[in-house]
Amino acid sequence: MEYNNRKQVDMIIKNKFIKSFNNNSTLIFKEALININKLNEEGMIVKLFNEDNHFVGKGFYGKQNKGYGWIVSRDEEAIIDSEFFYQKIKAAVEKREAYYKDETTTAFRIFNGEGDGFGGFTIDYFDGFYMITWYSVGIFSFKEDILTGLKKAVKCTGIYEKKRFDEQGKYVKANDFISGEEASKPLIIKENGANFAVYLNDGPMVGVFLDQRDVRKTIRDYYVKDKTVLNTFSYTGAFSVFAVLGGATKTTSVDLANRSRLKTREQFEINSINPDEQNIIVDDVFNYFKYARRKELTFDLVILDPPSFARSKKRTFSATKDYVDLLIDGISITKDNGIIVASTNNSNIDMKKFKQFIDRAFKDLKIPYKIRETFSLPDDFNVSKDFPNGDYLKVIFVQKLTRRSN
Ligand code: SAH
Repeated sequence: MEYNNRKQVDMIIKNKFIKSFNNNSTLIFKEALININKLNEEGMIVKLFNEDNHFVGKGFYGKQNKGYGWIVSRDEEAIIDSEFFYQKIKAAVEKREAYYKDETTTAFRIFNGEGDGFGGFTIDYFDGFYMITWYSVGIFSFKEDILTGLKKAVKCTGIYEKKRFDEQGKYVKANDFISGEEASKPLIIKENGANFAVYLNDGPMVGVFLDQRDVRKTIRDYYVKDKTVLNTFSYTGAFSVFAVLGGATKTTSVDLANRSRLKTREQFEINSINPDEQNIIVDDVFNYFKYARRKELTFDLVILDPPSFARSKKRTFSATKDYVDLLIDGISITKDNGIIVASTNNSNIDMKKFKQFIDRAFKDLKIPYKIRETFSLPDDFNVSKDFPNGDYLKVIFVQKLTRRSN
């Protein structure tokens, strides 16, 4: 059947999975579908029915990790066109009104996929510019309608995209500029009064991860005055910048990637911080731990923000398997009563499990600890209660106690 020049298919959900769809679960997952071979073109409209032929929801087919697409409406007659996207984006933008008005923060997420009612893509704002990230070939086929909806909802200086629909969500290398004016290179955005240099058209990452905004602010405002800070997996040094702005006596940033040195220097410089007074080390974090132990270096605050999975020359790191060991390394070079900021963006590790990792690491070292605070995604990364798995970020501030202070 043709629909809006788009193929449409009726799909049946297996009885044993229907409950999770009644729960409003918006992800369409493979195991739940009976006639899966009917899904033959990404982007096709999918109407879902239960085995008794009652309508359940309407969505689209787009392969993304474990998912086969998203339900986007409970209305059988819904038409998924530019007007549909306009309404969704407009509602999402209205929710972020306070962010748009805040002149001290000029970069934030305005549309968070299923959290804002349409899974498969996100939109970030960078001081007048918009960045759309596509997570499947299926959602990408709606590009023109989404652009029309976006342009109607907001004034865009320029629009960029990141295609992350390669296998396993890897970035597809491309010219990421779509339309409007091109952003300066770098574009300087503000976050709680600090500056960040971002590059909208320079590979998969732009230079800052917006989801750590509240964590950076908390570090700056409450944890680092007159303290020494070790920032591991530091990338462009965003945490280090906030640490210096919060009065840290010295920061040490460690990242394997060569680019991190210049990028980190740049972030310091645009915040009027002399990079020569900070340590920037290009090395494998695990080598650095060995070096620090040999030299008996210790820090007041140690930040651990590894990727979920990373392969370096010598070893691979997998958050699910190796996080406890990473914590043990980090705790070992934290001063007594110092703080470890442990972060993971792995959606297979929920807060409960992450706290168990922390507990195992401290127990292993026979050191008492106290969890000071925890963070998940900030408000602009709106999470759907129907899809709690979307709440991927977990950050724990934990204090290393001494037996006496316990
Ligand atoms: N904490 C950063 C984001 C980290 S992104 C921030 O707040 O912006 C993950 C970084 O880990 C990448 O820059 C990558 O180069 C680095 N990385 C991956 N494996 C590593 C390893 N074994 N040692 C050091 N850095 C590593």
